[in-house]
Amino acid sequence: MGKVFNHSAIEITELGQHRFELQLQFENVHNVNFNTSEKCYMQSSGFGIEDVKDTIVNGNDGTKGKLSCGTEKGKHKCKNHRTAGILVMERPCGVVLDVKELFGSESKSQVYAHIHNHLSKTAFSKTSIICYDDTCHLKKFAHNPVRSTQTAVASRIAEMEILCDRFHFKNHIDVWCRQHCNPHTSENLQNVNTEVCEQLFSWLSKFGSITKHMNRYRFLFLMLYVLDNHNEDIIVQ
Ligand SMILES: [Zn+2]
Repeated sequence: MGKVFNHSAIEITELGQHRFELQLQFENVHNVNFNTSEKCYMQSSGFGIEDVKDTIVNGNDGTKGKLSCGTEKGKHKCKNHRTAGILVMERPCGVVLDVKELFGSESKSQVYAHIHNHLSKTAFSKTSIICYDDTCHLKKFAHNPVRSTQTAVASRIAEMEILCDRFHFKNHIDVWCRQHCNPHTSENLQNVNTEVCEQLFSWLSKFGSITKHMNRYRFLFLMLYVLDNHNEDIIVQ
């Protein structure tokens, strides 16, 4: 196009967070003025970028502190750099609703984004409770106003009951977490099987010896096939 350009790192402040982005800078060789959006090479909404306030909680005495539960899974990097495995969303009856691939680790940003997309579908407009093993970090992530004010679904998620499953709750030691993520005190979860994902995970681990050496596409195909059959078995029962 006859334009001379180069890449520059530009500091951007978005959703209260700072980051650097590469931007394509056109040089003004033809005395044409480009506005900022035309200069921008890559754009991101910043929706899923982790924020320092994501893990800060208010204690009962009004002091602020960092969540002390050692349950954060974003820290556990997968050896396979192409994929970290799958995130499965399931109803308490055992029917698998969605399967999503995770990259790098089971980070909150990926989990949150998948939940957000899932709940954006009309079929799930009435879903009101989320059970997740690393609840406290997910809940804080969802409650952070840098996200919860961005979309209607994000504000709905922030209002939802986000609780830990009973099996993993013993790992949550933080005072804030014991108070706000306790599945035992939820009226809505009485007689609900909150461990359904753990049970599915345990059953799926039987396939570990055959999936270990599979490439990404074979692994994903097998998971979809197996989980689809699993759904049929549940529905027939
Ligand atoms: Zn916790």
